[in-house]
Amino acid sequence: MTTPTLTDLKTSEGARQYLADYFSSVIGNHFFKDYISEALAADFACTLSQHLAALAAQPDCLTCNDHGAVGNVLNAEPCPALP
Ligand SMILES: [Zn+2]
Repeated sequence: MTTPTLTDLKTSEGARQYLADYFSSVIGNHFFKDYISEALAADFACTLSQHLAALAAQPDCLTCNDHGAVGNVLNAEPCPALP
């Protein structure tokens, strides 16, 4: 799945492509492809795709932002949130 820019997600075509890719690759559902490309309201597609892209941009670990360590170069320690 390519990473779209926010500008892409403000266009009907870009938003629909993002949602089609999202449903296919993240949800594993291909059945809404025609609905997304033909029937889904463009403003809804733009809003939903921007929301999903913002969620995807967040790190999994909010303690270390997926760096695996906390602190700085002088006192770095393994992330305490790691199992
Ligand atoms: Zn972490």
